[in-house]
Amino acid sequence: MLLKVENLKVEFYTYRGVVHALNGVNFHLDKGEILGLAGETGSGKSVTSLAIQKLLPPNAKIISGKILFDGIDLVELNEDEMRKIRGKRIATIFQDPHTYLNPVFRIEKQFIDVLLAHDPDIKKVELKKEREKLARAKAIEMLKMVSMPAPERILKMFPHELSGGMKQRVLLALAFSLNPDLIIADEATTALDVTIQSQILDIMEKLRRGKNVSILFITHDLGLIAENCQRIAIMYGGRVVEFGDVKKVLTNPLHPYTQGLINALLRIDKDIKPVSIPGTVPDLVNLPLGCPFYSRCAYALDECNKSFPEPVIVDGVRVNCHLFARK
Ligand code: SF4
Repeated sequence: MLLKVENLKVEFYTYRGVVHALNGVNFHLDKGEILGLAGETGSGKSVTSLAIQKLLPPNAKIISGKILFDGIDLVELNEDEMRKIRGKRIATIFQDPHTYLNPVFRIEKQFIDVLLAHDPDIKKVELKKEREKLARAKAIEMLKMVSMPAPERILKMFPHELSGGMKQRVLLALAFSLNPDLIIADEATTALDVTIQSQILDIMEKLRRGKNVSILFITHDLGLIAENCQRIAIMYGGRVVEFGDVKKVLTNPLHPYTQGLINALLRIDKDIKPVSIPGTVPDLVNLPLGCPFYSRCAYALDECNKSFPEPVIVDGVRVNCHLFARK
């Protein structure tokens, strides 16, 4: 197991009050696995990603829980210790490739700066010129790995000269250049058109197989998770409410919220009209005492409004729902 998130709780302090963004998140990720983290906007996916990297904004705090990465509890690490892990062992690819490349530097400089600062083989070379030469050669190798045409020419360009798909490939190449153990892809393909999206996903899968990297794939798109992930974690109200093998969860969803997400999909294989989930996500400032899905759930029981359900394992899938706790 590479990553284990245990009972993670995060709060944001705002003018409206305390936002209970994560309320006991539990999941794990094995080496070389792609885990899909899904849920509506506001369910806690991106906060989970930021908490893992200890990149929460100043008005947010991890209240309790553990983030065990290769046996190290990241929650306990200070900023200097985290800086050695971020980028080097945990790399992130964000949704908007336009924002995460520095617009005033050529692609070459952005690679060289990262590799000179973090690549141990390059760092130990004495002469600066030699170090830069090695970094440039590695940048070309990484760009070739993400199937970038004419990598030497790309290195000389500024980000604004590249298309969205090309920028996302550069970010992928940067993310993989330090041989990380874990890549967090936070809606990394959402802003791309479907053709480029498919190419980027193929590259990620190729790199995962070649380098045995684990990927936490955060998306609201269940179709992408079905095609690319081995397991899935469904988030709602700052908790993982269903977690297990992707085929089992998507073909036989247990939690009413997972069922709602699947029923809301447009299906071309079946003559079924999509049905949206009624209501909206809960107000995280005034979270209900019981199940946060209570007000939207067609199967709600009396106890659902009183207590949050304990996890139950059904055919290898973990689910938090009173319907199963009863059986
Ligand atoms: Fe619905 Fe109750 Fe299950 Fe929540 S615990 S999803 S309200 S049945």
